[in-house]
Parts: sequence; structure tokens; C-alpha cells
Amino acid sequence: MKDYLVRAIAADDQIRAFAVSDRGVVETARASHDTWPVATAALGRALSASLMMGSMMEGERDEVTLQLIGDGPLGGVTVTADSAGHTKGFVNNPHVDLPEKENGHLDVGAGIGKGYLRVIRDMGLKEPYSGTIGLVSGEVAEDLTYYYAESEQVPSSVGLGVLVDTDLTVRQAGGFIVQLMPGTDDATIDRLSDNISRIESVTDMLEKGYSPEMMLQEILDGFDMELTEKRDVSFFCGCSHQRFAEKIRTLSRQDREDIAVGDGPVEVVCRFCGKKYTFSPEEILGR
Ligand SMILES: [Zn+2]
Repeated sequence: MKDYLVRAIAADDQIRAFAVSDRGVVETARASHDTWPVATAALGRALSASLMMGSMMEGERDEVTLQLIGDGPLGGVTVTADSAGHTKGFVNNPHVDLPEKENGHLDVGAGIGKGYLRVIRDMGLKEPYSGTIGLVSGEVAEDLTYYYAESEQVPSSVGLGVLVDTDLTVRQAGGFIVQLMPGTDDATIDRLSDNISRIESVTDMLEKGYSPEMMLQEILDGFDMELTEKRDVSFFCGCSHQRFAEKIRTLSRQDREDIAVGDGPVEVVCRFCGKKYTFSPEEILGR
């Protein structure tokens, strides 16, 4: 299945919903960073969420960043998505191996540990908007549900799933976010909660061949759902030799001398996509 996301509204605009299928995005991230399964799942869930959260933003250059920072062996996950269907991200420690949970799932919660979730929305204003909450479980979807309730006062249900295949590549990835707008009537809330309590997990739905539209049809069963958008999504960094050169030029003389120590070229690795760039000492020192 091609990677894409959909947006929908239902129940006279009282519900807004997002769903994404992004196996290719998460597999690109896995291959770029050589993540092991727990890291693949943690990063993949965050990437899927970021794509849907990016699509909630209006401006062409708006960006949303999610950081899950914890005391677990993964160290932390950082992802940044724009409003046009691009996302990128990394895990601090990609080579983490943890025993599976009793239900056979990858133990993302233990990988991330105790810590916080920060959401930064950059809308090109002087000060980006930022909200931070303590992690509930480190399982990502639960933390985001809590974040929306606590930090943005938007009752939401978030489902995210990454299934890693036996060859350690990504077999399935995707998710959904369903949100209630202010003033939603009780009957709508009850029906939606009932639907959500009955649906299968995201990875089970994807394994059955569900598209993002089909996931939303299950979640919004009994509602008049209207699809309002469908867009392709991809893992895209946008870094370049030029961009790193510009960043290096903003560093202090002392910092540049520290980087250019020795006579040989210096390799700079992009944290977000793993691409490597080489700079000569002359380029770094600006001679
Ligand atoms: Zn990059």
C-alpha cells in the first residue's frame, strides 16, 4: 500500500479524524538509522503521529516537533513533520534490545522509560508554541491522548502501531487520531467511545489490509463520515551540504576551531536522516 493519510469530519463537524498508513516512511527511517525493533516501533509510532499532527497545521511552512525523552535505554525520540506530509526523526540509541511484553508486543514503554513528552508547534511566529506533560506509559499513543486532554483540552483517542517483520524490516505502520470538538453531544461521545472500545489494534487492521479510510469507517461506524482530504506522506529531511555550511558559519570561532581539530576533512552526520557530509578544515574555519 502507498503511504498516505486521510482527514475526515463526522457528526455535524463534532468529530474530526485522521488516519495514516505509512509503512514506507517507517521503513525508510529504520534503514536510515539502522534501528533495532524496539527503536523501530518507538520511532515509527512517533513518525505516524507527527504526520497526522502536521496535517492539522494550516501554514505551508508550519512544523510540529514531538520529543519523548525518558530514562529508558532508547534515550529519547525526536520527530519533526511539516504540514505537507513530510516527516523525519531519530532515536538517541537505535541499538536497543529488550524482551517482548507478555502479549508478544515490543516493549516501547520500557524502551522510553519515565520522562516527558514535549510538543512544539512552529508556525513561523517569534515564539513557537510548546506544551509538555509527564509520560503516562511511554507507549506514545497513550501519552499523546493524555497530552491532548491535559495540554490542549481536546478529548482525543490516539491509536498507533508498528509491526516489525521476522527479517526486522517494517511490515506495517500506521495510526489514527480522533478528536471531539467543544460542545459535542453525549450521544455522539457514547457512540464513539463504544466504537473505539470495539475496534482491533492498528496493526491488526493493517494486517487485514485496511486502508486509512477503512480504519476511520470502523472507528466512525454509524456516523455520517465525510472525507475532507487525502495526501501522500513521506520521510523527507531536506538537509544539504549548503545548509550545514550555513549552520557552521553561525558558530563561534572557538567552536569552529574545536571542530576542525587536525588537518583532515571533518564528517558531519545529520541526526534526522543519517546522511553524511564532509567539510574541509578551510570550509569550517572560513578561510
Ligand atoms: Zn538530514
